[in-house]
Amino acid sequence: MQQSIIGYHQDEEGHWVADLRCGHGQHVRHQPPMTSRLWVLTEEGRQGFIGTELNCKKCEEGGDGFVPTEAVP
Ligand SMILES: [Zn+2]
Repeated sequence: MQQSIIGYHQDEEGHWVADLRCGHGQHVRHQPPMTSRLWVLTEEGRQGFIGTELNCKKCEEGGDGFVPTEAVP
């Protein structure tokens, strides 16, 4: 499920986690060549990706029973 980035925080290891609109978090690591996200390394880059949609696996799995209100048309 595509969810917009509304902010960021860092986990206990200093990795960046995008805060998604649905309330879940998703790591946005820069791990080339598999995952190239140079933008996460700078404040400017991160701000530029606010509002960008990521595919939230947690929403698709529905593991925690969270029901996004905006899923209703
Ligand atoms: Zn989610």
